Amino acid sequence: MKIICIGQNYIDHIKEMGNEIPSQPVIFLKPDSAILRKNAPFFIPDFSNEIHHELELVVKINRIGKNIPVKFASRYFDEITLGVDFTARDIQREMRKTGMPWEIAKAFDGSAPIGDFVSTNEISDINNASFHLLKNGEMVQKGNTENLLFKIDEIISHVSKYFTLKIGDLIFTGTPSGVGKVEVGDRLQAYLEDKKIMDFKIC
Ligand code: MG
Repeated sequence: MKIICIGQNYIDHIKEMGNEIPSQPVIFLKPDSAILRKNAPFFIPDFSNEIHHELELVVKINRIGKNIPVKFASRYFDEITLGVDFTARDIQREMRKTGMPWEIAKAFDGSAPIGDFVSTNEISDINNASFHLLKNGEMVQKGNTENLLFKIDEIISHVSKYFTLKIGDLIFTGTPSGVGKVEVGDRLQAYLEDKKIMDFKIC
């Protein structure tokens, strides 16, 4: 399986990063070794002094597809969850400055914790789903898929032009504003609407 991530997909986050609004989805990948499940702790890697949390809605692909039209994209998933796109912001900044690929800032081991999956039947409107992140009990990120620059169906269609989607592939759909540094001892709790999806420690 593969993890496909969309960057710069919420206007408020694009602004907080000082980036330009992209004309098409910004895509990057993480390997399966990035995944953490079942509220496993996240260990801060020793190569970064600035790991940021980015809470994102995550879609799980349930059938194989290539060049999927937007109007059929909703048939390609029936489960979602939340995930954190952990980012070594210090390294990402360096990579961007030199025009080099981002992978070591984004795709390192443990950089993609995900929660348990929820059936889309339990979500009244996938394009109006709210989610939020608490850090040590305090709300730090709050998003709603209605504010996605590129909607989930558009993302699936666009991504499938370049990469054949397979069963079990995950798509991280982008982070809203409020990204910030994590420290040893922090506790992150993520909610999809009112349901707690993740609860884990930073070590
Ligand atoms: Mg992200």
